[in-house]
Amino acid sequence: MLDETHAPSARAWLASANQGGDFPLQNLPYGVCRRKGSAGPFWVGVAIGDSALNLGALSHRPVWATLGPGLDSDLAQQAARAAEADSLNALMALGPSAWQALRLALFRLLRADAAPALQREVQACLTPLDDLEHQTAVRVGEYTDFYTSLHHARNVGQAIGNGGLVPPNFFWMPVAYHGRASSLGVNQQVRRPVGQVMAPGAAMPVVGPSQRLDYELELAVYVGQGNAQGTPLPVAEAESHIFGLGLLNDWSARDIQFWEMAPLGPFQGKNFATTLSPWVVTLAALAPFRLPFERAPEFPPPLPYLDSPALRRVGGLDIELSVTLQTAAMRQAGQDGETLSRTNFRHQHWCIAQLLAHHTLGGCNLRPGDLLGTGTVSGPTPAEAGALIELSQAGQRPVALSNGEHRAFLQDGDAIALSAWCERPGAVRIGFGSARGEVLPALS
Ligand code: CA
Repeated sequence: MLDETHAPSARAWLASANQGGDFPLQNLPYGVCRRKGSAGPFWVGVAIGDSALNLGALSHRPVWATLGPGLDSDLAQQAARAAEADSLNALMALGPSAWQALRLALFRLLRADAAPALQREVQACLTPLDDLEHQTAVRVGEYTDFYTSLHHARNVGQAIGNGGLVPPNFFWMPVAYHGRASSLGVNQQVRRPVGQVMAPGAAMPVVGPSQRLDYELELAVYVGQGNAQGTPLPVAEAESHIFGLGLLNDWSARDIQFWEMAPLGPFQGKNFATTLSPWVVTLAALAPFRLPFERAPEFPPPLPYLDSPALRRVGGLDIELSVTLQTAAMRQAGQDGETLSRTNFRHQHWCIAQLLAHHTLGGCNLRPGDLLGTGTVSGPTPAEAGALIELSQAGQRPVALSNGEHRAFLQDGDAIALSAWCERPGAVRIGFGSARGEVLPALS
């Protein structure tokens, strides 16, 4: 799975890409952006160092024929042309061989030994990241949210007083519900939702602003090529249908959610907003950070349709994640956000290939640009919890912040930023950037 695009010794001619940030030469994530305040169209960019490369513009430059052996440069240029759009969908629909050709071409164009004439052509297509604004990188057709962390399931169960009991289906399938694509966004201003809430012991529900607004730290899984309706994706082939991963904040109004969710699952407690990170990190870039998919012996092994030798060898992902909170008071005082928790995706009970295999088992067709949320990522210790309901034990123990404030749940003006990165000996660190959203007061 590793090739020259993962070489840890490779450096870019753009100095900012070699300084330990999120976007070195080995990463090359895709986003959709334009100059801040511009009225022009959004374009597909590739993040490199402190800049973004306009891929559609690059596709018309005379760089493609001279990129060296072992590379289908026609296919690479075709992939770049597919990115001449305001979403990644057409590129995602081309499939893994086109993605791989484009990745290799971009790598060679940006590598320190690229010919000066090529560097000049690429340089003309760069814009500083600080000058950009983003829209969602992918036009998401359908959004499904899974529930794959045993630690999250247990923590929430404890917090709401069921003793941490996990439903038996959790151990046999990656549980999910169909979510809402219309309210996805990047850098969102999230209006506190109003909803129907039943207080404990009350005779009837009341309607009002949620008092228990929360975030959920998740990864976004973006589907590349889909499958035909009626034809499931075998788990061994599932990853070839994944374009890449991003960050996803599944904002959750716990009071609305827990009243409404029996028996059909969450609805208004979650459908008001879901925040994505601007950049999509390709599965190819994550190749150096694979792990065996392992499960402790006390749990049942996956059923055959969710199991494969390759999965056991490299189905897992070693991705570090963190959540920071910047309150309005911190912002006014010029303080950065404060880390609420840090965890790793390796602790999930189900891995990404299994999500696609299970989703399509009954014949459901996935399409390019569909989005799967992994569910909250929580690790085994309390400090690794991926939602405030876990950290504050459903509000019973508000989290103490260093400036003297406390949070049982989110308050108006709170900004939540999710971040992720991968680092390992023998590989160059890559990052996902962040998914940021801020809570606005409810409408009166
Ligand atoms: Ca969720």
